[in-house]
Amino acid sequence: MKIICWGARGSIPVSGQEYLKYGGDTTCLEVRSDTGDVVVVDCGSGVRRLGNRLIKENTREISILFTHSHWDHILGFPFFKPLYYPKVSIEFFGCPFAQKSIRTVIRKVMEPPQFPVDLGAIKARLKFNASCLDGFVIGSLKITPALLSHPNKGLGFKFEENGKTFVFLTDNELRYRHPGGKDFDYYAAFCSGADVLVHDAEFTEADYERTRTWGHSTFTQALELALESKVKRFGLFHHNQDRSDSEIDAMVGECEKISARKSLSLDCFGVAQESIIEL
Ligand SMILES: [Zn+2]
Ligand SMILES: [Zn+2]
Repeated sequence: MKIICWGARGSIPVSGQEYLKYGGDTTCLEVRSDTGDVVVVDCGSGVRRLGNRLIKENTREISILFTHSHWDHILGFPFFKPLYYPKVSIEFFGCPFAQKSIRTVIRKVMEPPQFPVDLGAIKARLKFNASCLDGFVIGSLKITPALLSHPNKGLGFKFEENGKTFVFLTDNELRYRHPGGKDFDYYAAFCSGADVLVHDAEFTEADYERTRTWGHSTFTQALELALESKVKRFGLFHHNQDRSDSEIDAMVGECEKISARKSLSLDCFGVAQESIIEL
């Protein structure tokens, strides 16, 4: 399995000199199975460039999962070019969340007066799969959802293939239980022994004094989860819009120090746009 990050920023896309290393596009991951299945996770602004690449590669079959329907995770959807190609089929997976189905969420993104082109312009064949919390299979990938602790709810996902495990939990507040969310032990069990965990690590402890209940974790809370669940690699994700490259580097350095102090050899890294994780 190969995971390509097309956007790791939280809340709003950013640009500027201080964001060149980790990138400015919002959440979008591509998970490619060993047999070539293409799974897109979230349609933040990063999905635009992924779409352009898929068109170039002439990819016809695409699966899309949404973690939840906050703006930063759906705003790139209308700019995903494969939507406008008649030979493309796109299948959507995941639970209805926040009382809305995926179909309703994507229709709203393209609804007047917010957007000039409506859903009728979409030429790809769209299919909505009702698979939900029981887990599902896409090609050779086994996918298990987890309930996030986040305002308006959401889902995280575990991907398994050929004995390798990748867990993606973004927009998840570990120290505060939102309606529908779970406690720390649930997430520790969910991540247990994963090869790679990519987790929301938006805030510092100082930020958290004023951002508690906003739906995000501090990098130290996320690190605690990575250590507790004994994952091999931990990626910091959902970078705050004001966090510069050097500040993210400092957070990664702090994670390395904390895990070394506990005599644990955890590989910590900040997830950067265009980075590739191979499992
Ligand atoms: Zn977000
Ligand atoms: Zn969110």
